[in-house]
Amino acid sequence: MEKTLVVILLGPPGVGKGSQATKICSQYKLTHISTGDLFRENIKNQTELGKKAQDIMASGALVPDELVLSMLFDRIEKQDCKTGYLLDGFPRTLAQAQSFDKKLKPTDNLIVISLEASDETVVERISGRLSCKTCNRIYHKIVNPPSQEGLCDHCHETLYQRPDDKEEVVKRRLSVYKTQTKPLIDHYKKLNVLKTISGEHSIDKVFEDISIVLASTTGEKV
Ligand code: AMP
Repeated sequence: MEKTLVVILLGPPGVGKGSQATKICSQYKLTHISTGDLFRENIKNQTELGKKAQDIMASGALVPDELVLSMLFDRIEKQDCKTGYLLDGFPRTLAQAQSFDKKLKPTDNLIVISLEASDETVVERISGRLSCKTCNRIYHKIVNPPSQEGLCDHCHETLYQRPDDKEEVVKRRLSVYKTQTKPLIDHYKKLNVLKTISGEHSIDKVFEDISIVLASTTGEKV
């Protein structure tokens, strides 16, 4: 039976989920779905969903499950998810994880990668993070700077600091992660699909470690 690879990237804000997601999706031909990016797109277009999510996101809290779930479930029904996809920033609560479990098909090969790093590391990374509004690529002022200062390498748009990447909001996001999202590690451990990887290293080294895990699960050569 042909299996469809479904990867979930778990981990605190700033651990490197977005950077790794881009690399994994390009290597494994997966569709990258970031619920944060989907919300930011809705805010940019001032849709009803965007208006509902805007203030919640700016405060560092989580958008209510029912809004996240209907948006996510619509997205994974699209044609580009039929051959595999990666979820970045979803699920973030046990209720989201349980609803998603029910959506999985017997042909889906689910792998959950939990990226771990200390609070100091993630705060340092977020404070230097620059994002592209157009293509969502992520840079870091010091460890992963764009070739031309302040401009995206890919689409040459001006880079910006996300409003929720400011220090006070980051603290709230980290605490929300610990109380609401970290328990998912146990949930996926019980389902026997969890792989834990240190996110403390360079982007390339973390990707190498993820590739080894994915290759052993999918039977591909590294
Ligand atoms: P991210 O880009 O993944 O850091 O997400 C930015 C913000 O979007 C979060 O702090 C939440 O407010 C909201 N968000 C993204 N994904 C979810 C989710 N799965 N559940 C609830 N809120 C989310």
